[in-house]
Formats: sequence, structure tokens, C-alpha cells
Amino acid sequence: MTPFIAPGATLGVMGGGQLGRMFVHAAQQMGYSTAVLDADPASPAGLVAHQHIQADYLDAQGLAQLMQCSAAITTEFENVPAEALITLGAQRPVAPGPTAVSVCQDRAAEKQHFAGCDVPCAPHTVIEHAAQLEAVPDDLFPGILKTTRLGYDGKGQVRVKTRADLPVAWASLGSVSAVLEKQLPLAYEVSVIVARSAAGQVVHFPLQQNLHRDGVLAVTQVPAPDLTSAVQQRAIDAAERVAESLGYVGVLCVEFFVLKDGSLVANEMAPRPHNSGHYSLDACDLSQFDLQVRTMTGAPLVAPRLHSPAVMLNLLGDLWFASADAAAREPDWAELLAMPGVHLHLYGKATPRHGRKMGHLTVTASTAEQARTVARQAAAVLGLPTF
Ligand code: ATP
Ligand code: MG
Repeated sequence: MTPFIAPGATLGVMGGGQLGRMFVHAAQQMGYSTAVLDADPASPAGLVAHQHIQADYLDAQGLAQLMQCSAAITTEFENVPAEALITLGAQRPVAPGPTAVSVCQDRAAEKQHFAGCDVPCAPHTVIEHAAQLEAVPDDLFPGILKTTRLGYDGKGQVRVKTRADLPVAWASLGSVSAVLEKQLPLAYEVSVIVARSAAGQVVHFPLQQNLHRDGVLAVTQVPAPDLTSAVQQRAIDAAERVAESLGYVGVLCVEFFVLKDGSLVANEMAPRPHNSGHYSLDACDLSQFDLQVRTMTGAPLVAPRLHSPAVMLNLLGDLWFASADAAAREPDWAELLAMPGVHLHLYGKATPRHGRKMGHLTVTASTAEQARTVARQAAAVLGLPTF
């Protein structure tokens, strides 16, 4: 078990993206120093950490440097190679650990883990060889073919209407190991974020309701407007079972579909804070990043409390381009900042690109209706579709 690592120590993080940046902010607020390992000299977390080790995830010297300066290490990027975490774990507490992270990196292993925890997931089959294409059961069509590894933000997946489309779809993904899952009739999507300590203490956030556009998270609402308390409890219980059976230490997000018949189906999980939990920075008394710090330092966990209803809008690079061939220009932040309860978060990325997560905006208010009203006005100012 991790002995408590007191403020003043250095906390290390593998990965320098926006999740690492918000982790660094939370750690610094509590008086920790921070070290980020990321090869990109302009990485959002590297820019704000006390130390930025510019190295690849498997660079022996970089890993040695991170171990040397850090009292404990976490990860913000779910595709950090498990070998790197094993190396680090030999000398320092690493949360989450390599086994849990490797389950989350592999859609097939992840689904198997869900099933083992009595958590239903979409009917699916794994395709590794061309010979398996013919044996795919008919009832998986129409389906979605997803690469087993390395998919994110809707990348690495294609819709497959009929069996006849499957060979071309698989080839389009590079004929790599993939999971074909049945396309389900979604009523809406939710996610649950739990934090678990090395001592086995588990706390959770309220459920987030998530709207995706083109496979990318666009809007999160908390409290989840369409959710019944029975479904809420089932999702929390399921996420806690998943964390417990992994012996998980850290922050874990489980994404669920709620189907039109009211049933709950696990989609996937992320071994780290999650985009759908960013609202917690402004709407909860403890954020998902605060809990990441607490789990890795062996600090006590306290259940986070939602003090304001919130709506989060993701700010993708598309907002910087008035039209497809226009030059990039900054959105009108001043107009947004004039609205009550608007919290603007930008990740310090110099170059906007279509689909790139540049920041997010959280609207808090005393009622959910008010938060939605202001968030819809903000969406209109930004030129985003309404929700
Ligand atoms: P992210 O990393 O952003 O969470 P991802 O690339 O890992 O996304 P998924 O979460 O698997 O991809 O899928 C992205 C979205 O596609 C889901 O949130 C959902 O809207 C839709 N989707 C995925 N699988 C199914 C399914 N079986 N049936 C219906 N819709 C689905
Ligand atoms: Mg997802």
C-alpha cells in the first residue's frame, strides 16, 4: 500500500496532453512539484510543469529521469506502453498500474473484463485473420468495426452496414485486429467516473450525460437530464465492480450506452480522467484531477460533491476556421466571458486543427435549466449546433 506522499514531493505523469496539464494544475495547487514525460516540446502539460522530460514513452534515459525525480507516477494518455509502466513500477508507485492500463488498451480484453464483472456490453466478435470474416454472425449487422487497439475520438472505426461491406471495411482499417460490434439503438450516452485508492476506498462522481458528434464528445450535462435513479445506481455499481476487480488505483471512467428499451450497456473505459469529467473542475468541490492526485499519493478519498449543475462544451479546432479554406482566427472569447457562469479552459495548443481538442467551456448555474440556457447561447455565439 502507498504510504502518504506529502505535498512538496514531485509527482510524475506519463503524457503531456490537456489531461496532464489539468493534473499538473491540481497537483501544483496542493503544493506538489510536477514532472511530465512527453516528446513534444510544446505539449500542453510540459508547458506548465516544473520539469518537462522531452522523451518518448520507451526512452530508457527519459524513464530513468522521471523515476529519479518522482515520488509517484500516473498517466494521462491511455496508450502509454505497458512496458514503460512496468519499468517505472519496479521503483515507484504507479497508478493506475500496467495490468489495468493494458486491459483498457485492448477493446477485446476490455469487453471480456466487463463480461467477467457481470456488466453487459454490445454483442461483438473479434477479427484477427481474413478467414474469420466469413464466420461473423449475421446478427452483428449493421455494426461498427473498431480497431482493437489505439482508437480514440472515433478514429480507427467504421460503420459496416452489411456482411458484403465487411472485407472492404476491415481493409480500410489496415486489416489489423478489430472488434465488430452490433450497432445498438441508443437512447443516450452516459459515463461514470470513479476513483479508487490503494486501500480500496472508492468514490464516484454523479453520472455525466454525453452527446457525441462524429464519434467525438461534444456536450456533457450534469445532472444527466434523461437519467432515472435506477439506471444511475446500476451504472455506478457496474463501474465500481469494474474498478475493484482490476485492483484499480486511480481515476477510471466507464462509458455506457442507455438503449431505447432502458437497458444499460458498457461501451469502453479509460484508465485516467476523462473529457466528460472536465466539468468537475468548476462544478464540484473536488475535481477528477484532485482525485487523481489523491489516489496516487495515498491521500484519503472524500466523495466529490456537485455544487452546481453544469454543461460542458468541447472546443475543437474547427471553431478557429470560419470556413473550410479560411485562415485560422481566434473565437470571440470576450463575448462568451460576458455570460454568467462561463468558465473558459484553453489548453495552450498553438496550432488549431480540425477535430483537435483546443479547450472546453463549462457553464455552471444554480439550476440545470439555466446552465443549459446559457450553454445554448454560448454554442450559438461559437457557431456550434445546439443540443
Ligand atoms: P472516445 O475515445 O472519444 O471515447 P472512441 O474512438 O474510443 O471514442 P467509441 O467510444 O467506441 O470510440 O465510440 C464513439 C461513439 O460512437 C460512441 O460514443 C457512440 O456515440 C458511437 N458508438 C460506438 N459504438 C456503438 C455501438 N455499438 N452502437 C451505437 N453507437 C456506437
Ligand atoms: Mg468512447
